[in-house]
Amino acid sequence: MPYELPPLPYAYEALEPHIDAKTMQVHHDLHHKAYVDGLNKALDGLAKAREANDFAAVQQLSRLVAFHGGGHSNHTIFWNNLAPAGKGGGGEPGGELATQMRKDFGDFAKFKAHFSAAAAAVEGNGWGVLAWQPALGALTIQTMMNQQNLTILGSIPVLMLDVWEHAYYLKYQNRRAEYVTAFWNVANWKDAEARFGKASKVTI
Ligand code: MN
Repeated sequence: MPYELPPLPYAYEALEPHIDAKTMQVHHDLHHKAYVDGLNKALDGLAKAREANDFAAVQQLSRLVAFHGGGHSNHTIFWNNLAPAGKGGGGEPGGELATQMRKDFGDFAKFKAHFSAAAAAVEGNGWGVLAWQPALGALTIQTMMNQQNLTILGSIPVLMLDVWEHAYYLKYQNRRAEYVTAFWNVANWKDAEARFGKASKVTI
């Protein structure tokens, strides 16, 4: 079954002024869509290559599945990790996520400083990721290059921030750190708490 582009859970302009409407429109309608289309195309090619026992092509297409599949999955989570400021966006996490954060990072301010620095420092295109690590029984802050590299297998994303240039360049140009600061106004902690609640029950 081909994958489909999920609709944004809010209007393009809902995250203004922190993330602008034009960026959201281009990011969702063009960039995310390209990952969905790329994933479907790679999966179709992969099936044919396997059928033909062309394992050189299988290897190459498997890389494309990881890249485009990562792009599709990451953006689907990212849209839901965001909410309009003051209407679900901003503030601090509560509940068990807050408790686990204190255990692994000290307090919310320390977490925020660590995550911000990690996201701002991603070399080239990638993501800042707060993830539950079933193998470690802990939350970690990871940076991910492109859509899939530098991750620990089994990582479950709780909060993701896209720091590809397409995510901020129209409004912030080269000022990625400003975009990262603005992100905290639209971070959806209810969504992150719900993801953590499910993730923390997983063992591997
Ligand atoms: Mn993106």
